[in-house]
Amino acid sequence: MSPIIVIGTGLAGFNLLKELRKLDQETPVILLTSDDGRNYSKPMLSTGFTKSKQADELAMGGPEQTATAFNATVRTGVTVTAIDRAAKEVVLGDERLAYSKLVLACGAEVFRPPLEGDGLDRVYTVNDLMDYARFREAVAGKKTVLITGGGLIGCEFANDLTNGGYQVHLVEPVGRCLPALLPEQASLAVSDALSKLGVVFHFGVFVQRVDQHGDGVRATLSDGSTVEADLVLSAVGLRPRIALAEAAGLETGRGIRVDRCLRTSDADIYALGDCAEVDGHVLLYVLPLMAAARALAKTLAGEETPVSYGVMPVSIKTPACPVVCMPPPAEVAGEWEFEIDGHHVKGLFRDAEGQLRGYALTGDACGERMKLNKELPALF
Ligand code: FAD
Repeated sequence: MSPIIVIGTGLAGFNLLKELRKLDQETPVILLTSDDGRNYSKPMLSTGFTKSKQADELAMGGPEQTATAFNATVRTGVTVTAIDRAAKEVVLGDERLAYSKLVLACGAEVFRPPLEGDGLDRVYTVNDLMDYARFREAVAGKKTVLITGGGLIGCEFANDLTNGGYQVHLVEPVGRCLPALLPEQASLAVSDALSKLGVVFHFGVFVQRVDQHGDGVRATLSDGSTVEADLVLSAVGLRPRIALAEAAGLETGRGIRVDRCLRTSDADIYALGDCAEVDGHVLLYVLPLMAAARALAKTLAGEETPVSYGVMPVSIKTPACPVVCMPPPAEVAGEWEFEIDGHHVKGLFRDAEGQLRGYALTGDACGERMKLNKELPALF
């Protein structure tokens, strides 16, 4: 019988294998990855300077350990170039591998906005352990980092690099940080705390050019001002990797569309993690992928199981001003109400019936998360 093939050894692929082996030790499983296949927790990448961790120290095990511990074949440094659904094979350049079931756990890719200039080789992104190793090497012995993007990843790195002794400039086109996750009052608490730590914010502008300047770069912003730094860390956003699925004719939207059983528009192909759009939800976080891995493992072991998302709050690792939030669904009308005490903000979003539909907590108010989670309706 052909094996189950999983594309991706990130948290989604790895946890699916781990959960599947609790239920089924025999069915052959092959994991394929274009990276080095080391097992690591991606959220740790944006706390590595605070904790003084090099890439090797963040790796929890190599691909051989995964293969042995979970009776699987792990092939690293291989890129799936196509899916032949009619033949039920994945294509790796000249090679073809047959599957019984295929799981897409291929993650999200970094969005790269168009930039001009001759300093683009000093613009880095960190979306996996290998990126992190390259960035650590590049930034060693340097002093100043310009971060583009003030979302979760940009703010976490701003805090982390500052803790690591770097001068950080952060450019965010929207006039405040974490605009997609927080209401303005909570954003202000975070940017204020990070400013006090030493982060210099450039709000309402974007980076147009990055040019070489001495040993570093000079970035030109959209208002004509310039910022000099040793290098740039681009954290503008992530997008689900859908190209492979799209080329194979699978249904895609923002992510690879799957039903609550994580099944794509092809009955033998599933998707989970950052690449997936689960019943309309694209959530690039760990909690949803863990729930999906548990459910999909059961389905693959023969017990059809829909995933249940419950409440999925987002924690932001900015120790200068910790954040936990549950953004209200876009289609829900309602109002925010706030209690603000310095950096400690409690924002509650209620709909017209008075039902809690979202929250934003910063500082000490984060302690209320458990109580509030119980009041929130499940996502599904
Ligand atoms: P990935 O880890 O991206 O894995 C994708 C895999 O697919 C890789 O193995 C890759 O090699 C492989 N692949 C892709 N295409 C191919 C191909 N064609 N052929 C072969 N292999 C392929 N979430 C939280 O919940 N809390 C946090 O605090 C948090 N912090 C974060 C901090 C940072 C810096 C980042 C970048 C993300 C953070 N996240 C956080 C998000 C979270 O880490 C991700 O949601 C999660 O790790 C995604 O896992 P994944 O397995 O879906 O994707």
